[in-house]
Amino acid sequence: MGDCLFCRIVDGTIPAKIVYEDEYCLAFTDINPQARVHVLVIPRRHVVSLAAVGEHDAVLLGHLLVACAKVAREQGVEESGYRVVANTGQEAGQSVFHLHFHVLGGRHLAWPPG
Ligand code: AMP
Ligand code: ZN
Repeated sequence: MGDCLFCRIVDGTIPAKIVYEDEYCLAFTDINPQARVHVLVIPRRHVVSLAAVGEHDAVLLGHLLVACAKVAREQGVEESGYRVVANTGQEAGQSVFHLHFHVLGGRHLAWPPG
C-alpha cells in the first residue's frame, strides 16, 4: 500500500530495528516504547486490522502469534510474563492501519488497560 507506514518498513524505505523476521512477518521495536520490551509483530502483506481478516487469514494469524511467542522468548520475558495486544479501530486507539501485535513485557502491566 503506497501510503502505509508499516509497508514502508517491510520494503525497507523506512528504517526500523528489526528483532525477528521470516517469510511472512517482521518484528521491530516500537519507536515509542511503553515497556522495557515493546516489539511490534506485523505481516509482510498489508492487512488493515483484525476487523479486516477472514477465514483465509487463519494460517497467517496463527503464524503471527507464534512469532509473538518467539519474540517474547528471545527478548527474555517468557518467564516473567508479557502481553500481546492488537488495538483494533478507533476506540481501541489503533493509529497505524496495518495489522500489528504489540508484544509488551519487562514491567508489571496493569489490568484492565486504560
Ligand atoms: P497502534 O496505536 O496500536 O496502532 O500502534 C502503533 C504503534 O506504532 C505505536 O505504538 C507507535 O509508537 C508505533 N510506531 C509508529 N511509527 C513507528 C515507526 N516508524 N517505527 C516503529 N514503531 C512505530
Ligand atoms: Zn501496510
